[in-house]
Amino acid sequence: MKIIHFLACLTLLSVSPKTSAAEPQGEIPPPKEEPRVIDPGPPPSDAIVLFDGKDLSKWNSEKNGPAKWEVKDGVATVNGTGSISTRQEFGDCQLHVEWATPEKVEGEGQGRGNSGILLQGRYEVQVLDSYINKTYYHGQAGAIYKQYAPLVNACRKPGEWQTYDIIFHAPSFDADSKLEKPGTVTVLQNGILVQDNVEIKGTTGPAGAPKYQAHPLKQALMLQDHHNPVRYRNIWIREL
Ligand code: MG
Repeated sequence: MKIIHFLACLTLLSVSPKTSAAEPQGEIPPPKEEPRVIDPGPPPSDAIVLFDGKDLSKWNSEKNGPAKWEVKDGVATVNGTGSISTRQEFGDCQLHVEWATPEKVEGEGQGRGNSGILLQGRYEVQVLDSYINKTYYHGQAGAIYKQYAPLVNACRKPGEWQTYDIIFHAPSFDADSKLEKPGTVTVLQNGILVQDNVEIKGTTGPAGAPKYQAHPLKQALMLQDHHNPVRYRNIWIREL
């Protein structure tokens, strides 16, 4: 029995190399580099932690000097001392931010729980209490401010923690400061897609047509002080 089995295997071996050696046409060759091994965390081991709840030492105030937002119990709270920017500058990136609008509901529309994640200090992913709070659609939470409304309103209740996971590709400009490639952004709010690889139309702002202004590939990330006590925690970024 064993001999028959052995012979059968031998026959198979002598036939099979011909068929398996020939690569099917059009097959993509395997990449030469093995994907880097990282610890997924959170935060992932290859992320730069921008705020771990201890201090804002990686941030500056827009009004000169270190960031002055209140830090308590692992949370940074907007307190009217001005927007804050990272000391380090970033280009293409994956960004994770957790935020919560005030539990005590005050104001309405753009005046309720307003803050923002300003990619490169100029392209705002809106932070707003959009839980039963009407405003213009491209100004609510998850909007690219005044450019794109979120695909859905995935807001949690005021006071509850929410997440943004953002994938951003920076715009580039040629030697004459002309736009070469617009920036693009994908945003997941609470794990739900709210911006699907949209093309940023320029610096976001409250009025007028958005326009690009040439800038270096890497720029500081900014969190907006809009005079509402929005809270932040667990902020990390991966350079792409
Ligand atoms: Mg804002």
